[in-house]
This record gives sequence, structure tokens and C-alpha cells, in this order.
Amino acid sequence: MMVRRLLINGRIWEGEITADWREGVLLLPLSVVAERLGARLQWVAGTDELEIDKDGSKLRLSVGQEEASMQGERVPIGGPIYVTENVVMAPVSLICRCFDLRWAYLKDVDAVVLSRREPALSGKCIMIDAGHGGEDSGAISGDIVESELNWDIAQRLANILNLSGAEVQYTRGERQAMSLSQRVNLVRDAGADLVISIHQNSFAQAEINGTETYWYSSWPARRLAECVQNHVLEELETVNRGVREAAFYLLRHSPVVTVLAKLGFVTGCHDHPMLGSIWMRERAALGIFRGIREYIEG
Ligand SMILES: [Zn+2]
Repeated sequence: MMVRRLLINGRIWEGEITADWREGVLLLPLSVVAERLGARLQWVAGTDELEIDKDGSKLRLSVGQEEASMQGERVPIGGPIYVTENVVMAPVSLICRCFDLRWAYLKDVDAVVLSRREPALSGKCIMIDAGHGGEDSGAISGDIVESELNWDIAQRLANILNLSGAEVQYTRGERQAMSLSQRVNLVRDAGADLVISIHQNSFAQAEINGTETYWYSSWPARRLAECVQNHVLEELETVNRGVREAAFYLLRHSPVVTVLAKLGFVTGCHDHPMLGSIWMRERAALGIFRGIREYIEG
């Protein structure tokens, strides 16, 4: 059974062939993953053997065999390999081993996520601040409650960050109330490297839509805000309301680089249905993830 979506290294794969569940084993399009990760894949002339070259390490496998050869060592393939429309489908365990990836299946959006352990992210502590919580619901519009939406996106972001090797902490739990000063204390105690605060916007007029990211006083925070804003815009295709400086409590008092993203307007005629879609919320998290990654790598 074909999985609907495939996310590789923080990007959505747009092709027809994604991932496929067969007899309880998840199979992935080998060439797609290899290409996205900068590996070379070729058939060995005159054989039914495939060779994958990644940074000088070689994996050889043949269709119909139960073992592959990795750097000359025999490794189990861990399931069937088949070829469909010239695409070789190979088990996720083999692919993850070959490319040093971690994977997760997100049931609610029917997506397989593949992530490389990012050296720049490993050992970094990212604090995710889901805005509002407890009695404080934030903005409400129709069936959208900002505090719940922020928490949902926070969790999706945490998942991707974890897969990429970062350590993640939250400033609040799902329905937990937490004051702004308590949040600042948590950031301090956690020894976080950076903080991303997730909020939404609201306005009286439905024509107002778009994404804003806030920073305060420091150039690194401004850069992080720009990275997050750009990648969120790319993912959500919302109106660009820009990167803005504002003296919000969290931005002013947090001891580390902190930004606050207002992803969309819960009241907006365009943003409201978008924020109501779980897939778009996953994509919002994906955009934030790439923004954080770009900031840390840069
Ligand atoms: Zn808010």
C-alpha cells in the first residue's frame, strides 16, 4: 500500500512513487532517497546488481537476493526488493543503514519522514515555546483555538528535530498554563541554545492574512527570524508580512537567541482553512525546522 507522502531531509518529495508498505515492511524508492542525499546509484553493467556510492562508501545489492554487500561486508536486506517503473524499492532498514538515516511514519498525515542526523544539530538543545495554554486560549476563530494549534505544531516540530539529532524541550505541556516569566526561567534552566515561540495572529478583518516572525535587539535573533520566516513562507505560501522587531516579554527576557513566529491569522479567509489542515501544520513545522537548521549550520 503506497504511502501518500515522503519527506526527505526536511523537504517534501513531490514524485509519484513514495513509500510502500508490503507484508509489514516499509519499502522506499532507493534512487529518490539516494539522489536527495547526494549519493550515486548505478546498475553494474551486465548484471542485476545495483551499486550505491555515498561519500566513498559502497553498497551493492541485487534484486532477489537476501543479502547486500556494504563495504565488502554482508548485511541482511531485511525484506523484499522490487522494481516498479524502473524504480528500485528497498526496505527502509537497509536504506537507513546505508545512508545513516532515521525514519518515522506519521499516521495522521500518512507520511514517511527520513532524516539525516545533522552534525550541526546534534547535542543542541532547542526549546519550543507553544504560545498560551491552560485558561489562556490565545486567539479563537471558529473551531480553531490558538493554544491547541500552537501545541500541535510544536509537537510536529519536536518530532522532526528529534529525528535529526537535536534535543528538544518544551516551555509547557499540552494543556498546561505557564506564565511568561516561568517560561523564561525554564529556558535559563534548560541551558537551551535557542528558543522558537509559536503563535498565531488574529484581526477583525478576514482579508488580513500572512506570516510574521519577530526578534528583539540581537543580530543572531534577527538572522534566525529571517531563516524561519523564509522557510515557513516557502512551505505555506502565505503572505509575507515580514520579519519584525518587537519587545515582547519572551524576546526581551530570554537569555538565549529567541524568535517568535506568528504563522498565520486564525481569522484570515486564506489562513484559517490552512491552519485547520493537519498537513499544512506539518508543513509549518517543516518550514520552522529548515529555518532552525539553516541558522545553526550558517
Ligand atoms: Zn499568541
